[in-house]
Amino acid sequence: MTTIAFTSALDGGPSGDAAFGHVSSGGLDTSHGAILYLENVSVSFDGFQALKDLSLSIDVGELRCVIGPNGAGKTTMMDVITGKTRPDAGSAFFGQTIDLTRLTEAEIAQAGIGRKFQKPTIFEQHSVFENLELAMKADKRVRRTLFARLSSEERDRIAAMLERVRLAESADRPAGLLSHGQKQWLEIAMLLMQEPKLLLLDEPVAGMSDEETERTADLFLSLAGKHSLVVVEHDMAFVASIARKVTVLHEGSVLAEGPHEQVQNDPRVIEVYLGR
Ligand code: ADP
Ligand code: MG
Repeated sequence: MTTIAFTSALDGGPSGDAAFGHVSSGGLDTSHGAILYLENVSVSFDGFQALKDLSLSIDVGELRCVIGPNGAGKTTMMDVITGKTRPDAGSAFFGQTIDLTRLTEAEIAQAGIGRKFQKPTIFEQHSVFENLELAMKADKRVRRTLFARLSSEERDRIAAMLERVRLAESADRPAGLLSHGQKQWLEIAMLLMQEPKLLLLDEPVAGMSDEETERTADLFLSLAGKHSLVVVEHDMAFVASIARKVTVLHEGSVLAEGPHEQVQNDPRVIEVYLGR
């Protein structure tokens, strides 16, 4: 039933918007408790196996950290989830019924998976407020033009988001003038305007100051529960500050998974990190 609603939304039929609204407000079937399932996913590039039988399951509302040395396959895993890379084998499901390997990148974004890349993709010449306005209007679920006036409700929504990412005082500044960390928060806010159910963040605190890193940890903790988050990160202090469950990738597979403390003390994990 969910699948049918989803398909008709993508087809953009007369009931398209209504059907999609249904999907976005709980039509995603997470009755088994998980929002994302990867099972035995393999990806190779010219014979080199970047992912080998990777299996992973993320619970609804979970904040999961994924760590691992360079080349472990972390970014490739996100590429598979977002449809940028097709697995050679294995399956990737969003909820129980949405087969990610059969959707385009745009369809996956619309289904409710947001991705933050390492380099922020904000509109530097536009103000911080305008960036959120553009992000909101880019939301395919809402049919409106770029030039339509914002309703007061929409203005409030943007203002609340700016508060949330601590950019309220910079609302009228050109985004290009923000600090590196603020640009990262702005991009996260832009993603949040689309209300993703699952948010993928690739090395979000790289290049941030200690204070910015701490604030980012607070932000992610506040998002967990309402959203499900998968955070790939090298900064172990940051991981320690937000982590509940951690997955360690090594050579394209899961090497260890469990509570942060347990993973941190796992001799196999220590060897992989020290052996670099
Ligand atoms: P991580 O993000 O954990 O550092 P990646 O997923 O970026 O690792 O890369 C995993 C491995 O796959 C690396 O050895 C990388 O060189 C290789 N790789 C990733 N993308 C491609 C590609 N498009 N073509 C060839 N090799 C790739
Ligand atoms: Mg990477």
